[in-house]
Amino acid sequence: MIHANPPHQRRLDPERRRVLTVARGGCGCCAPPMLGGGGKNPLQTAPAARPAELRLSDFQPRSMLHVPVTRVEKPAFPVIDVHTHLSWMSETRNGVSLGEAMSYFADPAELLPLMDRKGIRTMVNLTGGTGRGLEETIARFDAVAPGRFRTMTEPSFEQFTESDYPRLQAEAIEHAHRIGAAGLKLLKTLGLYLREGIDQGELVGVDDARFAPMWETCAALKMPVFIHTSDPEAFFLPGNNSNERYEELARHPDWSFYGPEYPSHRDLLSARDRVIARHPETTFVLMHVGNQAEDLAAIAQCMERHPNVHVDISARISELGRQPRAARRFFERYQDRILFGTDAVPAPYGNDVPQQLLGDELYEIYYRFLETEDEYFDYAPAAVPPQGRWSIYGVGLPQEILRKIYHDNAARLLGMDR
Ligand SMILES: [Zn+2]
Repeated sequence: MIHANPPHQRRLDPERRRVLTVARGGCGCCAPPMLGGGGKNPLQTAPAARPAELRLSDFQPRSMLHVPVTRVEKPAFPVIDVHTHLSWMSETRNGVSLGEAMSYFADPAELLPLMDRKGIRTMVNLTGGTGRGLEETIARFDAVAPGRFRTMTEPSFEQFTESDYPRLQAEAIEHAHRIGAAGLKLLKTLGLYLREGIDQGELVGVDDARFAPMWETCAALKMPVFIHTSDPEAFFLPGNNSNERYEELARHPDWSFYGPEYPSHRDLLSARDRVIARHPETTFVLMHVGNQAEDLAAIAQCMERHPNVHVDISARISELGRQPRAARRFFERYQDRILFGTDAVPAPYGNDVPQQLLGDELYEIYYRFLETEDEYFDYAPAAVPPQGRWSIYGVGLPQEILRKIYHDNAARLLGMDR
């Protein structure tokens, strides 16, 4: 037990007491005790008459660390960004994207100067749509600047309630492949939004057997499946004062999956892993480090068990960079199965998600994280860290690993020359 007022401090000689009094104006952390408050904790400083009140949203501290700041304007090797959103399916019902109509966030004329400045060989647009929408996306991007853009298709959930959905879905993938889709992308729709009646009824499991022909068709056509399952662990916990993503959830309350109406983080990932095990010929790229960047031992176990698994690092340098030693070991061990991605979204849509806001700054942060050993820097171009109040550390990867992560692993999966 610690005594509030140890007896020896009450019996200080007058000379020592004078020294302590003189030194009182120093810094708080090593300030001497203020004596004479009979019965009070001698280490306690006087509280302000009126406690300062500062809203969390107004608290924007600047680090006083004097540490090296390395600006990495261009990457060490040409980059394939496997995770961007340049288009979006226009119609969404309760979180499920439907139909063939598309919305476009940017066009190649706007993007190519940025790509050239930032050393980006290719952007992969994951949300390319289906059917005629997909054709339009490919015509707008891949056909205009060959090799600079690759487009992925998405499931045709509109047809989910039809009795021959499994066959229709497989045929839609075949059509997408014929017109040039580079792979299949699944949003977190599967497991969290898609229901038996599309937007009503019971949730449909990630491992529902009706999707088996979709996974198998992708394997047959050598189309990688880019799948987003679940979300950060904190999104499944109460959005209260102990939630490390409190501010993010306060800004995006619809990102919370806390409560009995949702499956747990663990259940979602278990269902995903059953799909991966059942379809060993299909290549699965798990978005956002499989939404297990907070638990690298767990995603490592998944990668050990399933050689058909890759991951991308998009929107998770915040997590990787706050555990730089474990992250570096992860990069070393899985250097052939990790892909560079940012989850970039062009403004104005990206303004809402600074960790994904497409621009020079975003890419420079990723390059700094991967290439330098800089310490304690912002993981997003924002005044307040948007995914949680912490900073990150660079992992300083060697050239041979950078080359694979920036480029070669993606080139191999997408069938591009190296
Ligand atoms: Zn994304």
